[in-house]
Amino acid sequence: MSGSERPRAMIAGTAVSVDHYIGGRRVASPGTFEARSPLDWSLKLADVSAGDGAVAGAAVAAACEAAEGWAARGAAGRGVHLRRLADLIDGSVEVLAEIECLDMAMLLESLRRRVIARGARNFRAYADLAESYSERTWASNGTDNRVQRMPAGPAVIITPWNAPFMLATWKVAPALAAGNTVVLKPAEWSPLSASLLADLAHEAGLPAGVLNVVQGRGAEVGAALVADERVRRISFTGSPETARSIGAAAAANIVPFTAELGGKGPLIVFEDADIEAAARTAAGQFDDSGQVCLAGTRLLVAEGIAEEFRQRFDAHTNAHVLGDSRDPATTISPLIHPEHLARVEGFVERARRAGDTVLRGGRRSRPDGLWYEPTLIRPAGNDSEIVQREVFGPVLTLQTFADEPEAVRLANSTRYGLSGVVFTGSGARAERVGQAVRAGTVWVNCFGVRDLAAPFGGCGISGLGREGGDYALDFHSDLKTVQVRQGTTG
Ligand code: NAD
Repeated sequence: MSGSERPRAMIAGTAVSVDHYIGGRRVASPGTFEARSPLDWSLKLADVSAGDGAVAGAAVAAACEAAEGWAARGAAGRGVHLRRLADLIDGSVEVLAEIECLDMAMLLESLRRRVIARGARNFRAYADLAESYSERTWASNGTDNRVQRMPAGPAVIITPWNAPFMLATWKVAPALAAGNTVVLKPAEWSPLSASLLADLAHEAGLPAGVLNVVQGRGAEVGAALVADERVRRISFTGSPETARSIGAAAAANIVPFTAELGGKGPLIVFEDADIEAAARTAAGQFDDSGQVCLAGTRLLVAEGIAEEFRQRFDAHTNAHVLGDSRDPATTISPLIHPEHLARVEGFVERARRAGDTVLRGGRRSRPDGLWYEPTLIRPAGNDSEIVQREVFGPVLTLQTFADEPEAVRLANSTRYGLSGVVFTGSGARAERVGQAVRAGTVWVNCFGVRDLAAPFGGCGISGLGREGGDYALDFHSDLKTVQVRQGTTG
């Protein structure tokens, strides 16, 4: 750590801090990493401070120092700050959207119209929920019993590079509302919006040390954060591989952790479905270039309607426009990073070599950028790698099924279980298949509709624990039972 703040980077007219935010002030590291724009990889946005063990230790120390005061404010006192922060986010939509678009390449219009606003809603909703908590009370065995929530203590939150602002706010808001102080580490491929969030938290008057943001590589500063024995909660979103090593660190310190991980969701289309709606939704899985954990990437279609489905799916896919994410006509953005593009290419090349059939796409769309064509693959078998592993790019598989039991069997045939999508016109079938699909969220005749109060998480290697609504507040609390002998207090 070198201490003093380095000059801010001027990005699209906004001065963005490239340093950590610890204990209410900016702190630089001597080492840096580059933030580049996926829209034009030759464009370096900033050299960002790369944290290390010392930075992690300082951030956790700041969070510990602020913990008691923040907890003592109570839900209402904390809510004042969180609502002020939400208002500031709403007032900064344009800046946040532009920086996020340059940093991560999510579509600018969608950031402006919905994604950033969701960040503000996260803070308001959790402020409301924490305030409305009512203790469970009952009498038994001659005692009055009450269940209380105690803030658990400093929480470490580690987020991935896709949807960085939305995911950071979705995880930071419940931690703060529950009374915990936070150290947030965003992903090194999209670090900038978290830095803006720190500025807004500062402006909202959050006391020093309540929210700290450290930048840097996962294996360095991230690993040091999760190994720190002063940390009382770890909330992680990312890949199963990283979750394993974070889980080991959490186990060593007996710290509860939640893991929201990858997916390989089925999108099942029965013969009684609205085929047009199903095909439109299926082609919509290419949005954000498929870099969406919840995406229904395995298309499972009833044999009898497969041809019609495919025609309609192709028509919608042909209408996609690959381009600059700032252009309102663009529907498919570039991938986040050359390494990720190479990873996606590797999946498709291995699928070809293994005998899977590439039905459309299967290549970069232009040599000078990070775009990959919307790709559809018919696997040689259900055990093909392309069916069994998350690609996290614009690559879908297409399989057909003969009947409902086969559809369910295929749907549940991977190690993941984050989401599932079912298209059917039958209420009874919706009920049966909705129950039978093993996933944290199942959508019937819709996709991506989210309610903040609903539990969110995955089965199998898609995750551990649940966040969302009261589930997140419970996770960030130590639940305590107080029993008072009846008739012994006034
Ligand atoms: P990743 O696991 O590589 O990295 C996620 C974060 O963990 C980053 O901030 C990284 O720096 C950090 N990290 C890496 N190694 C670490 C370590 N040893 N200790 C502590 N932190 C470490 O994931 P990614 O590539 O950034 O994100 C893509 C993955 O995230 C996909 O699998 C995707 O499905 C998943 N994801 C899941 C959800 C969900 O809600 N279930 C949402 C978005 C993304």
